[in-house]
Amino acid sequence: MENTVPNSAKINTKDVAQIESAENVQAAAQKLADKILEKNLHERFAEYGKNAREWTRKCALLLPEIEKREIWRKRGFSNIYEYARVLAGMSTNAVNDALWVMKKAQDKPELIKIAKEKGINSIMPILTIATPETEKFWAEKVREMSVHTLQAYVREFKKADLQAKINGDFRDVPKHSQNQNLFSGKNLRRIEIELEPEIADQLEKLKGAGNWNETLKKLLTAYQENLEMKKPAAAQTESRYIPIEIKRHATMRTNNTCAFPNCKKPYEILHHTKRFALTHEHNPDSLVPLCKAHEQLAHLGLIENEEKLPSEWRVRKQPDKTQEKYKIDQLVAWHRAAVG
Ligand SMILES: [Zn+2]
Repeated sequence: MENTVPNSAKINTKDVAQIESAENVQAAAQKLADKILEKNLHERFAEYGKNAREWTRKCALLLPEIEKREIWRKRGFSNIYEYARVLAGMSTNAVNDALWVMKKAQDKPELIKIAKEKGINSIMPILTIATPETEKFWAEKVREMSVHTLQAYVREFKKADLQAKINGDFRDVPKHSQNQNLFSGKNLRRIEIELEPEIADQLEKLKGAGNWNETLKKLLTAYQENLEMKKPAAAQTESRYIPIEIKRHATMRTNNTCAFPNCKKPYEILHHTKRFALTHEHNPDSLVPLCKAHEQLAHLGLIENEEKLPSEWRVRKQPDKTQEKYKIDQLVAWHRAAVG
């Protein structure tokens, strides 16, 4: 085909390179401008959001008194929900939470003080368990834990408390009797499973005249023994990086689930039950996969028997301050608070 473009209109390779580089500069400048704009938008949104939350928190704290005095009625609203929605954009749930929390906390000044600082949500997990006698203890826990960790702690605390009612105070009973009492799981739990017919058939044959508990225990032991045989050696190192084969081994024990008794959350952190800062070692025997809440409980020193198998773990009321790892955990807490 004949070339119909006149020579003068032709663009040579040098020109193309120049145009392309100019375009690149322009594109890069545009990209940078976009990045700055987006950063600015995000920062403004985050700041306004933070302020909005703070003001909503202040509104929530006033609600019980407004409800008590029926100020909403005097101002022409049909109820407290309408009043809070119109004036503060609060949802029905938020109003209910605020009223419930403040009612529950009315005889607990320490907790009200925290609600004023950190919002009513911060004390919600403990309101069914805190009493005027124990509110100081709980206030301390609210201050050092995230809401999720606090929820996890309260859950375990209630279980331990229930046992304590049978066995005496769980902090003061002798250690040997404590271990048997909590998380021993001797009462049976029923679970439902769906299986492929062939698997079900083989399992039933394996069970034979025995019972499911024994049969599955055997399978579990076989799985654990198999895993144990392939256990990699501990790594002595200055690096916090956990070698992949050790990581894989530690997470295989629970198939990536949090190892804390009865927790079914996926693991988020491989926790050193013997602190790395003390051992400089990644040992598959002392690496345990944990969810964020349970990892925080461990670092708060609130897990008793931490260096034994997780099935022997239980929560305690205060950390053991005589342990060397307590100092490390204090540093971790300080560092986390600083990083945010
Ligand atoms: Zn967990």
